[in-house]
Amino acid sequence: MMENDEKREIAYCDECGSIYLKSSSKMERLCPECSHILYGYENCKHVFINGRCSKCLWDGSSSIYTRKIRRCSYSVNNTNDENAPVEADDQKE
Ligand SMILES: [Zn+2]
Ligand SMILES: [Zn+2]
Repeated sequence: MMENDEKREIAYCDECGSIYLKSSSKMERLCPECSHILYGYENCKHVFINGRCSKCLWDGSSSIYTRKIRRCSYSVNNTNDENAPVEADDQKE
């Protein structure tokens, strides 16, 4: 019986805290978005329906760290910020 292979396994992303579909990400504990930003893996081509990607289930969350990388993807001068404690969620858009 191969039925279990069809099951949609949900996991939590270590970086942004969003849930994601395990099979949609190359990485064990990162959603496709974060694994793309942090490690350059192929990202999901998100299709958002009601604020959640229907393909990988990512909810659009991003950690402060990945948000920063996305903002300035090539020049990161202050690497000390990595040591800052991870806030639950900041208010910046
Ligand atoms: Zn993530
Ligand atoms: Zn997606």
